[in-house]
Parts: sequence; structure tokens; C-alpha cells
Amino acid sequence: MRRVAVIGAGLSGLVAARELCECSEVTVFEKSRGYGGRMATRYGGGFEFDHGAQYFTARSVEFQDFLEPLIAQGKVASWRARFAELDRDTLVTTRDWDDAFPHYVGAPRMNAIGRTLANGLTIRPNTTVAHLERDTDGWSLADRDGNALGRFDWVVCALPAAQTATLVPADSRLYQFAEGVQMRACYALMLGFDRPLRLPWQAALVNNADISWISVNSSKPRRAKKFTLVVHSTNAYADANLETHASAIQDHLLQEVSEVAGIDCGQVSFCQLQRWRYANVEKQSGPACLVDEDMQLAGCGDWFHHGRVEAAFSSGLEAAGKLRALVA
Ligand SMILES: Cc1cc2nc3c(=O)[nH]c(=O)nc-3n(C[C@H](O)[C@H](O)[C@H](O)COP(=O)(O)OP(=O)(O)OC[C@H]3O[C@@H](n4cnc5c(N)ncnc54)[C@H](O)[C@@H]3O)c2cc1C
Repeated sequence: MRRVAVIGAGLSGLVAARELCECSEVTVFEKSRGYGGRMATRYGGGFEFDHGAQYFTARSVEFQDFLEPLIAQGKVASWRARFAELDRDTLVTTRDWDDAFPHYVGAPRMNAIGRTLANGLTIRPNTTVAHLERDTDGWSLADRDGNALGRFDWVVCALPAAQTATLVPADSRLYQFAEGVQMRACYALMLGFDRPLRLPWQAALVNNADISWISVNSSKPRRAKKFTLVVHSTNAYADANLETHASAIQDHLLQEVSEVAGIDCGQVSFCQLQRWRYANVEKQSGPACLVDEDMQLAGCGDWFHHGRVEAAFSSGLEAAGKLRALVA
């Protein structure tokens, strides 16, 4: 059996690893403590927040089939939110999300999906792969301190584009591909309240502001009762303020959300900011993944297609489909 290293335990890496472990010896390396990548949950001050991906839809039959057992296990559920579009502080439209076209979330929190998919896989958490070296015999991996992480026949990079380009050899096709893809940043503001706020919606798309999204996180299925909001900045604001001091960003986004949603910031009992350097990517027109047979190097991730959960799934699945015959 060939030895395969999958770098990154986000959705694309986990999907690829699960498919490939049936025909090869797979080890997944993940720099964080938890699994699921940007399908993440943050805990703080007794509150919980899905501070990355907010919800996802399933358009392809493959993704719907993949979700079926997760829905049956209660790890994925439909969020029947009242959805609003706001033009700054003006409510433009509302509609109710229903099961005719479900808007899914992990349950009881977004990171439940990564945790479930990680079951049964060989994963090394808290392990950043910092060096990849290729010789005639395959790949050697090492961490930031130069500690050896093992030798592998194939490497699958399931990382955002910029992180892929940093890691893989500059003469690889994967490098040339990844280096040309610009990912956008996003700030997430997490707000916890001791008392619930009265809002006429549970999810809002915001235009004409430096914030693009507000969700009542606690309204998602099977969440803790404590009232929580997740606010996302626009990509444009985040890209332009990547190096601005976090406290200035936090103050500005608080001001924006209070103006847009009429929230009294004095009622906030918990507030935390997260910067997502590589949050999402515009629609791309290239392939869904890249498999370089000569170098025994593959890449997958949302950035091949679009910064969406379903795109990460499709990319991981397609990479595994192409690799199966090569690694068996
Ligand atoms: C703020 C925000 C809001 C979003 N909202 C939505 C939404 O509402 N709907 C939607 O469909 N999508 C949304 N997305 C996008 C969605 O989260 C992503 O498309 C999807 O989760 C990407 O999965 P992935 O496997 O491609 O990458 P990731 O989830 O980024 O996985 C990559 C993994 O690699 C790990 N890693 C990185 N470098 C290394 C290294 N050197 N060694 C080891 N491990 C490493 C990372 O820790 C991470 O776990 C959002 C994303 C963000 C950030």
C-alpha cells in the first residue's frame, strides 16, 4: 500500500483522506488542535460561536448523498432562519429559509462536522508541516523545528492557495497554480449577551456597510440558549485593514453593527475578534483539483472553485477520485 500524507484537516482534506484510506495508508497533518478548518467554532466567556462558515447549501447529488448520514446522525441540521437583506440600517426584504432548499449547519456547532469526519482517520493535530522535500524515493515532511514527520509516496495539500504556494516546490505545477489565486480576508466579531435581543431576523446580509453579515448564532439548531451574534466584515474592509490594530477594527465593527442593527453596545457582555487571513475566494474557472502524477503531488481545496463549503467537498472528492488508481 502506498503512503499518502494529506496536509490540512479542513473539509476538503478530510473528504479526500476518507476516500483514500480505503486503498492506501493515509496520515492527515493538521496545524490546529481541532478539525474542520474554516468550518470552525470558537468558545469564550461561556459562549459558543461559529465564527467561520455560517451555513452551507447542497446543490450536487454527490454532496446531498454525503450529507445524508450526517443529517441522520444529527451532526448536520437545517437552519430555518428568517433571512433579511439590509441596506445599511434599512430592512429591504425578509424571507423564511425552509426545507425546500435547506441552509445547513453543523449541530450542535459547526465543528461537529470535522470532528465526525475525523473519526477513524490517522490524524496528527497540532502539527504544522513546514517543509516538503522530494527525492527519487518519495517525499519527506518536517515541521517548523525541522523534526521529521515521515516519508510518503504521495502528498495531498488541502490548504488555502497561499499556504499551498508557501509549502510546495516552486518548480511544481501546483505552485504555479496556487500562486496565481488571490484569497480574500474577513474579520469575524463574536458578541455574547446576557439577555436576548429583539431582532426581526436571525440571519442578515448587509449592503452599504463595512460589515456584510450578521447572524444570531444561538438561533441555529441545538445551540446553547445564551444569545450570541456573529458579525462578518466585508472582504474589502478586511483586505484594506489587514495590519490595522485589532482594537481599532473591533471598535469600528461594533460601531457598524450598532448602527446597522440598532444594537446597544453597552449590552454586550463578551466580545472577541478573529482575523481570517484566507477566508474565501471569488469563483474560479479552472479544474476542481490538481493531480501531478510526475511529482506525486496533489492539491485540493475550495480555492480551486469558489470559497464555499460545497466547493471544498467537491474538490476533495474529485482529487481522491483521480488519486485512487494511482495510490492503490
Ligand atoms: C469568515 C468565513 C465565512 C464563511 N462563510 C461561509 C458560508 O457561509 N458558506 C460557505 O459555504 N462557506 C463559507 N466560508 C468558506 C468555507 O468555510 C470554506 O470554503 C471551506 O471550509 C474550506 O475548506 P477547505 O478544506 O478547502 O480549507 P480549510 O477549511 O481552510 O482547511 C485547511 C486546513 O489546513 C490547515 N493547515 C494550514 N496550513 C497547514 C500546515 N502548514 N500544516 C498543517 N495544516 C495546515 C488549517 O488549519 C485548516 O484546518 C466561510 C469562510 C470564512 C473564513
